[in-house]
Amino acid sequence: MNLLKQRILSDGRCLEGGTLKVDNFINHQMDPALMMAMAQEIANRFSDKGINKIVTIEASGIAPAILAGYLMQVPVVFAKKNIPSTMEHMISTSVFSFTKNRSYDVGISRDFLSADDRVLFVDDFLANGNAALGIIDIVNKAGAQVAGMAFLIEKGFQNGRQKLLDMGMHIESLAIIKSLDNCTITLE
Ligand code: 5GP
Repeated sequence: MNLLKQRILSDGRCLEGGTLKVDNFINHQMDPALMMAMAQEIANRFSDKGINKIVTIEASGIAPAILAGYLMQVPVVFAKKNIPSTMEHMISTSVFSFTKNRSYDVGISRDFLSADDRVLFVDDFLANGNAALGIIDIVNKAGAQVAGMAFLIEKGFQNGRQKLLDMGMHIESLAIIKSLDNCTITLE
């Protein structure tokens, strides 16, 4: 998606360790017009896949997910990170965080995920695929089906895509980073 690619090149910054910082338009300050355009692109790419629910993980996936859900007219559920012990009916799993370098639990209530759901997972980044694998685990535990996975930015030099393809997933990424070597952003 050209609009996003141009924005990454103009406003993205590269941090040591292969992290792309997009705090000024996705991860902290958000650009609503760009976010809506990205959601529209996601909605177009999955319009014929029979999606009836969107699932994301808090926090950065929520903005694109809610806009895509609005456009696709389906409910949006976000996996919670700090699962309160009082929360009932939780389906949870452990996810290793690329940016925080530690594992954390995420969960979704059984009340909002059921066997007749065809789920589209939406997230800001695909890196090693750990967040996506966690969601696949939760969706499977609910007896539901992952019908597709949409990412705003994929880091093509990490192995998330391959892991998900090996599981038969349909993946769409709006921009793919080929390399962040020498702190230079190179897109596919
Ligand atoms: P994965 O689970 O695929 O390894 O990593 C995806 C998650 O880690 C995303 O939800 C995102 O929050 C975070 N992440 C991974 N790589 C980057 C990056 O280069 N920049 C930013 N801002 N977040 C990242």
